[in-house]
Amino acid sequence: MSMAKPVIGVLALQGAFIEHEEMLRKTGAETFEIRQLADFMRPKDGLVIPGGESTTQLKLLRELGLLEPIREEIRRGLPVFGTCAGLILLAKSVESEGSGRIATMNMEACRNAYGRQLGSFTTVAAVEGIGPDIPMTFIRAPYISKIGSKECKPLAIVDGHIVAARQGAQLATAFHPELGSDTRVHRYFLKMIAESTPSSAEEKG
Ligand code: GLN
Repeated sequence: MSMAKPVIGVLALQGAFIEHEEMLRKTGAETFEIRQLADFMRPKDGLVIPGGESTTQLKLLRELGLLEPIREEIRRGLPVFGTCAGLILLAKSVESEGSGRIATMNMEACRNAYGRQLGSFTTVAAVEGIGPDIPMTFIRAPYISKIGSKECKPLAIVDGHIVAARQGAQLATAFHPELGSDTRVHRYFLKMIAESTPSSAEEKG
């Protein structure tokens, strides 16, 4: 990556995308919103898939012809950070629902895993490589019920369940680090981008 600010496309179809944009700008990145295929085609160093409602986001991704191009670019190495619904979209499969999403991370997600009433809570827990005391806000959150290969590494455990994972340049959290003031998870994602393919800046021309 060049010395210039990293440019992050934030999927802005539905959900908590504005909070990600604010957090990314605070941590030294430039952002733009992805609402259609033409936006997604813009040069970028990374992609954020926000929390919200994964079924709605998936429907829109299909209708807008974004699902395949996103999957392809991630497979080719585009760094991606998915939170909550974003984690669900990145998971290879979803418990009792099967596959059909972006499905680039070798893991199974369990949706609304904490039950409808207990779905929202906050805690503080360790995230490997980031810190021992990361604030975590869960909102009708999923967790990762299975890790499918050793390339996909669990990074955090809350109440015996995996709530964050990394596979190469892909990062997923069941919680919402964009809500609140702790910027460490976003900084970690920007560091992942800085460490990924050095040639991508040239290719963008
Ligand atoms: N429950 C939502 C889903 O299944 C995810 C919740 C969130 O992103 N905050 O898509």
